[in-house]
Amino acid sequence: MTKLFNFSAGPAVLPHAVLAEAQADMLDWHGSGMSVMEMSHRGREFMEIIHDAEQDLRQLMAVPAGYKVLFLQGGASQQFAMVPMNLLAGKTSADYVNTGHWSKLAIKEASRFGKVNVVASAEDRGFSYVPDQGVWQCDPEAAYLHYTSNETIGGVQFPFVPDAGKVPLVCDMSSDFLSREIDVAKFGLIYAGAQKNIGPSGLVVVIVREDLLGQAMPGTPTMLDYQVHANADSMYNTPPTYPIYIAGLVFKWLKEQGGVKGMAAHNGEKAGLLYHAITSSNGFYSTHVAEADRSQMNVVFRLKDEALDEVFVAEAKKRGLVQLKGHRVVGGMRASIYNAMPIEGVKALVGFMGEFAHQHG
Ligand code: PMP
Repeated sequence: MTKLFNFSAGPAVLPHAVLAEAQADMLDWHGSGMSVMEMSHRGREFMEIIHDAEQDLRQLMAVPAGYKVLFLQGGASQQFAMVPMNLLAGKTSADYVNTGHWSKLAIKEASRFGKVNVVASAEDRGFSYVPDQGVWQCDPEAAYLHYTSNETIGGVQFPFVPDAGKVPLVCDMSSDFLSREIDVAKFGLIYAGAQKNIGPSGLVVVIVREDLLGQAMPGTPTMLDYQVHANADSMYNTPPTYPIYIAGLVFKWLKEQGGVKGMAAHNGEKAGLLYHAITSSNGFYSTHVAEADRSQMNVVFRLKDEALDEVFVAEAKKRGLVQLKGHRVVGGMRASIYNAMPIEGVKALVGFMGEFAHQHG
């Protein structure tokens, strides 16, 4: 097998050790005589798998008491609706920060259920920065304050956790979950689609403060009510068993890597190398993102001459560096360097970028 480095934004690279373990377990999980895919979700074996996954995640993030951890379906996109349906709780409006593509979609969906107050928007400068919290127009009566900690397409990441005061803070952490240390106690609710830093798509993880449960708006479908899932320990219906199993292996792997703290150091080093390659290229490569807000997960950059984009992608592919084409909305290039991307992958990319710039500069 050729060694590839996969820079896809998601579904994305998974730790090799996790895939190898899943392969070894494929036909017979721990002597059960079954693949995890074939197990009853209520059987002893799977109960052990989901229990361990939850405990490991709680440990990795130091989730305080008073929070539920839910393993749900419907992707992060479904959370765009579940959040307002469950957390508006009789209030008329919610606050949202608009930092790009994913915030916009969250705002659009929430607008179907109540009034959305956009407290700040980075649209004025092409979503290239995080507006300083000093200028946000927050409503102290808002049902909650929502933000997207990492804009996967724009490559913009919050360098701080907003202070929401008494208003519950809600975060779409899909693309930087478990990549750096955060204080869960500051949040009312955190959600993250699995297919970047957690495991396969089909699973979304929700961490929610218990006092926010049980206030879903009238007419909320059973499956979209957090309380229903919390009461049933994510077993109201058949959960996405295989993605939960892989997520559990990823959590164990993370613990072996020094946990979230270890990952944060690793991620900082990787992103540092890549941004240095961009900013020291004498303008051959460039990034539009404000320095303090550059994502450590999705490094978005352009080539001086757009006409070289296709050659860049093709040449990179020949070196085993794949999925570098930027999202169609912003163009250019995007290298997603999630937790599971080894530093060797980033070094190989940086080496290639230097040679390419030398040849075509
Ligand atoms: N939020 C963010 C920040 C994302 O990156 C994505 C997916 N790329 C989504 C939401 C939507 O996730 P899903 O496809 O799981 O619905």
